[in-house]
Amino acid sequence: MERSAHETAPFQYKDFISTIEGFEDRYRSDIDPHHYFGFPLETALAVERSLLSPNDKSVAYFSMEFGIAPSIYNSFRLTRPMSAKNQFYTHEVFSNYWLCDYLFKVHTDRLLDIPIYGGGLGVLAGDAIKSSADLGYSVVGIGILWNKGYFKQNFWYKHGQVPEELTWDPSTYPGLIPLKNIVTIETKEGFVHLRLWKYYVYSYDLKRACPIILLDSNLPQNQPAFQKLTDQLYRSDDVWWKIYQRMILGIGGAKALESLGYSIDRYHLNEGHAAFALVEKYVHAPDKNLFKAQQDAFAYTCHTPVAAGHDRFSIYDITRILKDEYVYAACVLGKESEYSDQINLTYMCLNCCEKVNAVALKHGEITRLQFPHFASKIQSITNGVHMHTWLSDSFRDLFDKYASTLGDWRMQPENLKRVLDLKSSLPFREDIFEAHQENKRGLVEVLKRWGLKDDVLTIGWARRIAGYKRPALIFHDVKRLVRIAHEIGPLQIVLAGKAHPNDDIGAAHVEEILDHIDQLNEHRKVIKVLILENYDTYFGKLLTSSVDIWLNNPLPPFEASGTSGMKAILNGVIQVTTLDGWVVEAAEDDIGWIFGYHHKGSDIGHEMNLRLREDSSALYDVLDVAAKLYYRTNHQGFVDLQSPWIDKMIHCVGRSAFFNTQRMMQEYNEKMWNL
Ligand SMILES: *Cc1c(COP(=O)(O)O)cnc(C)c1O
Repeated sequence: MERSAHETAPFQYKDFISTIEGFEDRYRSDIDPHHYFGFPLETALAVERSLLSPNDKSVAYFSMEFGIAPSIYNSFRLTRPMSAKNQFYTHEVFSNYWLCDYLFKVHTDRLLDIPIYGGGLGVLAGDAIKSSADLGYSVVGIGILWNKGYFKQNFWYKHGQVPEELTWDPSTYPGLIPLKNIVTIETKEGFVHLRLWKYYVYSYDLKRACPIILLDSNLPQNQPAFQKLTDQLYRSDDVWWKIYQRMILGIGGAKALESLGYSIDRYHLNEGHAAFALVEKYVHAPDKNLFKAQQDAFAYTCHTPVAAGHDRFSIYDITRILKDEYVYAACVLGKESEYSDQINLTYMCLNCCEKVNAVALKHGEITRLQFPHFASKIQSITNGVHMHTWLSDSFRDLFDKYASTLGDWRMQPENLKRVLDLKSSLPFREDIFEAHQENKRGLVEVLKRWGLKDDVLTIGWARRIAGYKRPALIFHDVKRLVRIAHEIGPLQIVLAGKAHPNDDIGAAHVEEILDHIDQLNEHRKVIKVLILENYDTYFGKLLTSSVDIWLNNPLPPFEASGTSGMKAILNGVIQVTTLDGWVVEAAEDDIGWIFGYHHKGSDIGHEMNLRLREDSSALYDVLDVAAKLYYRTNHQGFVDLQSPWIDKMIHCVGRSAFFNTQRMMQEYNEKMWNL
């Protein structure tokens, strides 16, 4: 897997710049023989040589979305002026302190994260590529350049979420370059031409990198409807868009790798969206029977037990678009059953990939129940997060201060479990609490207009707004919530999250949350509730590192993994959570409080049976205990360093030693790719 040394390096600066479209006009000032947007160019050249060389083992990682988060990690420099559209816009806040919402907005002066992701799946893909770079793996990401991103979110009282089109400017986005390569897909409706773009993800020490190749249909030579195909991520108002977007990723992606001359040994499909790569490979297989024998070239990660996460298309719809030999291939590889008229992309991946993984131990069990026919090939590889992206500065400094105990935690995140050796050290307990307070003051500063306080128990909930994640669970019995705040101590609750723009149920959830917040106006002296617009990786890092309690309340067993809690434990943030996804693997460690429904047995249950009454009651019981302990621990400026609260914080950090993408990529390499 590691790259070999190339004595006579074939790919030099002049070769590199000759691949770039418009280099002389636009990129000269940012790319020179030594620099790539302020980073070392040699790092990028080295990975190119590796991908081009048939002697090195290389992997292509296909994903519909990539959350790369340059606003919080490895930001490139740009010497040319950047379009203002690539700058972070201002966000409104909806709170139970109406006047503030009316007068103020959240402003932060930073780069807009490259808007080619929607949520956790994309963030995981970005983290996977970053850890591949850290490990020096020869991996290339394949994705799509979403010209209009996902969408911009607005909250309107009594309406819920109102989506708006997002615009950004790829041509002045730091680190992003267009290549001369154009690949073409032939369909029954004409040719789709796709420009390739490239973005390098550098390792934390800038010594290694992995490129991500992004496909873009926004070209004048395409007919107008085709130009918009890569506008909006997960556009789903018509099945036509869905099929084209998946064709572009799978078929266009496979063609892109050919066009670049990369020598690829494994095709890793991150979710079924990329399944058409298998169709492309099948159509071009010299011997169709041999295709079956080559299944070890393909690996597939399945991310969700929720039905909406599995794409299926009627053969009729596919026949309208794909050329006949492709339709035939799709039927051979992915027909749901012999007499079915549906092509199921999940089945296609399960049929064709020798190695398949679910994203946590529990999710592996559930996936094997859902697809019993394939049970023997479904393994579990638990998700993680990229430590260098999600670790706050104050905790980084803390780990450095205790380096004599932790060792080289940067290259070896598993060393973080050694914090447990510091559990009885009073100076360490004081330092970890103070590091947390520093992060909390950062949050209070960003939201200063709303008058948050750093000594009030603060609860965070931020994720995709989807039914099974139960976004309004904490408001199910507002009276009880208010009683806790009155009887034990004040509360601050900060929320954020986007619903899919076509998801009416999701929009209704947002409306419900806004309603609850509004009703809490009269209690704002003891309980402050804020929901932030446009949850993104910047807010993700801010919230997961700074609140006191990270609330995670999905309905078991529908959360395949979840990753925001992993970001939180890395920063010593305590969990209040249901027993689902990754939490099952950390439950014995006392990282906080586990409550609510426990899933057992082989009946998966129904994602609409939300158990709100029972589980909210269990949540309030736990919040009661947690709030009491918090106010005993942090009381009027006095911190009880012996408190079990601080034990829990330390257990969280210790457990984060496992939940990182470095360990995850090493497992992919060992168990999925076998290179
Ligand atoms: C981490 C992250 C997610 C995923 O959170 P889950 O806990 O898996 O729901 C989604 N969106 C953003 C912006 C994130 O940073």
